[in-house]
Amino acid sequence: MRNFLTVDVEEWFHICGLGSPLASNGRAALPSRAEFTTDLTLELLARRGIRATFFVLGCLAERHPRLVARILAAGHEIASHGWSHRRVYELDEVSFAEELTRTRAVLEAAGAPCPIGFRAPEWSINDRSMWALAVLARLDYRYDSSMAPLRLVGNPEFPEVPHRRDTAAGPVLEVPPLVGQRFGQRFPLGGGWGLRMSRPAAVIREIDARNCRGEPATIFVHPWELDPQPPRATLPWALRFSHYYRLDGFAERLDEILAGADFGPIGEWALTGDGA
Ligand SMILES: [Zn+2]
Repeated sequence: MRNFLTVDVEEWFHICGLGSPLASNGRAALPSRAEFTTDLTLELLARRGIRATFFVLGCLAERHPRLVARILAAGHEIASHGWSHRRVYELDEVSFAEELTRTRAVLEAAGAPCPIGFRAPEWSINDRSMWALAVLARLDYRYDSSMAPLRLVGNPEFPEVPHRRDTAAGPVLEVPPLVGQRFGQRFPLGGGWGLRMSRPAAVIREIDARNCRGEPATIFVHPWELDPQPPRATLPWALRFSHYYRLDGFAERLDEILAGADFGPIGEWALTGDGA
């Protein structure tokens, strides 16, 4: 059973919902760590012989086109993480389509094939922005991985398994992140603080349970989570928790998880596997 490993390629300062100096107008002056940390991610995957889907932020691809080329050369899929790291529900249909088109252009200029997958910053395709799925279908995206079956950023009623969403512009495959249950609440077991706080054996056990039911699990990581010396911004408590909780030793725990299950990119499955 093939699971999906996904990487959101962005800087340590691409945090949604912040004012200056981490807001978009102050970011150009901040030190870039994305090349270094993405290379660490590529090395980790190469050691395990794993290919993944890299959702690359457009503004980052414009600044680091050779990084896109290195991801491609290592055999991974390049997909879109939008342009500016603004939440989709903060955009409208026109500006969302512009972000997608601009990102596609820089990814293609860096040598990538036309991206067929999208992931929204902070899982921001939810009940406030369902219109975005039709925009993706109209622009020939085959799959989306932006709808979390979680209360805070998505909707616990969203399905936990990959499924088809029909829109006026055609169908889009939706690939949700792996979630777990604790104390009657769902939490993001597939990535972020939920993955960082979990024991690798527990994550592998949950992936196995899904696979036994014929369901793939989707894991998501960020290169900044693998930074051995991560710069730290001053953040409100909730963001500090979601971004910095248990970064220590995460690379080793992730490596253990990668060794414990089969992983691959989403795109091939969306085009040729069960997803077609
Ligand atoms: Zn992101």
